[in-house]
Amino acid sequence: MNSSQIQTFFETLKRVNPSPQTELEYTNVFELLAAVLLSAQATDVGVNKATRRLFPVANTPAKMLALGVEGLSGYIKTIGLYPTKAKNLIATCRILVEQHGGKVPGTREALEALPGVGRKTANVVLNVAFGQPTMAVDTHIFRVSNRTGLAPGKNVVAVEQGLMKRVPAYYLVDAHHWLILHGRYVCQARKPQCPRCAVASCCDFPDKTRD
Ligand code: SF4
Repeated sequence: MNSSQIQTFFETLKRVNPSPQTELEYTNVFELLAAVLLSAQATDVGVNKATRRLFPVANTPAKMLALGVEGLSGYIKTIGLYPTKAKNLIATCRILVEQHGGKVPGTREALEALPGVGRKTANVVLNVAFGQPTMAVDTHIFRVSNRTGLAPGKNVVAVEQGLMKRVPAYYLVDAHHWLILHGRYVCQARKPQCPRCAVASCCDFPDKTRD
């Protein structure tokens, strides 16, 4: 994609959805961090189902820490990899309580030092909670970036760097959500919905689908 195609691509996504949001449900920064940590290799729908019961009893690091690994596991058993996630989340809560005054830190370094928090989770928290123009490349963003020619790359770091360079600054904060939602609902893995795609005219995918 050339820069004028990229401009049209984001202009269009913005027009269709002016204020894109994460589909994970949360009411504070800690809940966002916990939800993102739980969402690795799981669907947002599945995570929301579990956190609707969990967050009313544990909406702070101290309250979640008090549940302990076993107590927390009872709430998240329906989420894949829950034993590891429960251990990581409780260990993360302990660090938040002991080293950060019970608050979620707003720097990449401090976030990535938390158990179970990798680059992608840190990027989501920095973007959604702290408004930083980060790009958390998940499977949807990776596919859309490569398929459309927006920011081709062999791995997630290459795609992340490509996006940070190519997405116009004006769209950078929301780009992550637009691309995830576009990949989840339109530019789907098995069969992209090209005939009803709003950005088809600026997409370089050579094998666009027809009805
Ligand atoms: S035209 Fe097809 S391949 Fe291109 S972005 Fe739209 S759905 Fe994806």
